[in-house]
Amino acid sequence: MSEAQRTQVAIVGAGPAGLILARLLACQGVESIVIERRDRAYVEQRLRAGVLEQTTVDLLRAAGVGERMDREGLVHEGLYLQFDGVRHRIPLRELTGGRAITVYGQHEVVKDLIAARLGGGDEIVFEADDVRVLDVDADLPTIRFKVDGDERTIRCDFVAGCDGFHGVCRSTIPAETLSVYERHYPFAWLGILARTPPSLDELIYAHHERGFALHSMRSPELTRLYVQCSPDDTLDMWPDERVWEELHLRLATRDGWTLREGPVVEKSITTMRSYVVEPMQYGRLYLAGDAAHVVPPTGAKGLNLAAADVKVLAAALVDWYRTGRRDLLDAYSATCLRRVWRVEHFSWWMTTMLHRAPGDDAFDQRLQLAQLRYVTSSRAAATMLAENYVGLEHV
Ligand SMILES: Cc1cc2nc3c(=O)[nH]c(=O)nc-3n(C[C@H](O)[C@H](O)[C@H](O)COP(=O)(O)OP(=O)(O)OC[C@H]3O[C@@H](n4cnc5c(N)ncnc54)[C@H](O)[C@@H]3O)c2cc1C
Repeated sequence: MSEAQRTQVAIVGAGPAGLILARLLACQGVESIVIERRDRAYVEQRLRAGVLEQTTVDLLRAAGVGERMDREGLVHEGLYLQFDGVRHRIPLRELTGGRAITVYGQHEVVKDLIAARLGGGDEIVFEADDVRVLDVDADLPTIRFKVDGDERTIRCDFVAGCDGFHGVCRSTIPAETLSVYERHYPFAWLGILARTPPSLDELIYAHHERGFALHSMRSPELTRLYVQCSPDDTLDMWPDERVWEELHLRLATRDGWTLREGPVVEKSITTMRSYVVEPMQYGRLYLAGDAAHVVPPTGAKGLNLAAADVKVLAAALVDWYRTGRRDLLDAYSATCLRRVWRVEHFSWWMTTMLHRAPGDDAFDQRLQLAQLRYVTSSRAAATMLAENYVGLEHV
């Protein structure tokens, strides 16, 4: 066993939460080590979210990692809600005093952050096995793990649990100190990445009696498309022809618009849940991102919420190192949870407005349509959607 290494903040997980936190701390002279269970290629290629709120864009720029995003990201000033075969545009920029979203893949954000960190000579331990988080209620927490069979130990002042929903950090907290709030949805998303230019320059969220569909994109050459499916479905039940058939039906309009097809280069099923754990802190362990909360993807919020958490955490840690004061650290959980619950509500609201749940009857469907008509005809209601979608200002 090698000697214990010492750092200020040990960050478990090299997803968006862990990598943005590491970057924000490095910008302020706080030392950290990132410990990741997967290899570099895996985390850089993992396809997930793709919509960055204005607040996330601003944060990445301020952290000096926005250059490629500004060059290659697609700025969207609006989005479409579709129902009864008619598309209605929500002008995001106009309704929010100039704010917008940027379509830029989560894996591209991750690539930029890894390049910046390694380029600055800071460490990311990839392929860390059997990660154990110990003594978080003492002054000097310890992380142990194995790399290539060798045991390594890191001692630190603080642990940031940025290891996603299935990570180890949350489960090291005594269960009796946590409250869990959870909702499972009786549907999932079948997503494809197709090598074809987007069929429209903005996102389309479509309500349809056969179930929800979403037209999105990753670049001018790559279209991302989703259809609502059952959480019990498997990929072999969705050959490409069936996916395209459903997409054509659910995204069809009465004005002759057509959906472009192309080779399917990726296909996956994402189940949907809402989940929040309170508090997001125990001793010197601070949870951030999916380790603490999950939202259904309809509001495009998971990655953005992870970024918002670590902005709060970085500021609190920097303040502790500069002044020795604990007040921002002590307020971390409560500060984050205010935004978390706003975003949980927005994501739940978008999800229930647009999906068809098993057992929904004509009454449920009419309520959804009434809500959609209201959101697309009232400036006040459209503004509510727009300001949540582009992201409320960070507190
Ligand atoms: C399958 C999937 C599809 C998604 N699709 C969308 C989408 O289409 N739109 C959308 O808006 N959002 C989507 N999301 C949500 C969004 O991607 C997440 O909210 C976001 O990744 C959260 O970032 P994070 O850093 O908190 O967690 P993660 O991105 O999950 O990162 C956690 C990191 O910790 C690592 N890790 C886990 N366990 C350990 C351990 N024991 N030791 C060390 N490292 C560990 C993981 O390998 C990972 O790199 C999706 C999420 C998933 C899981």
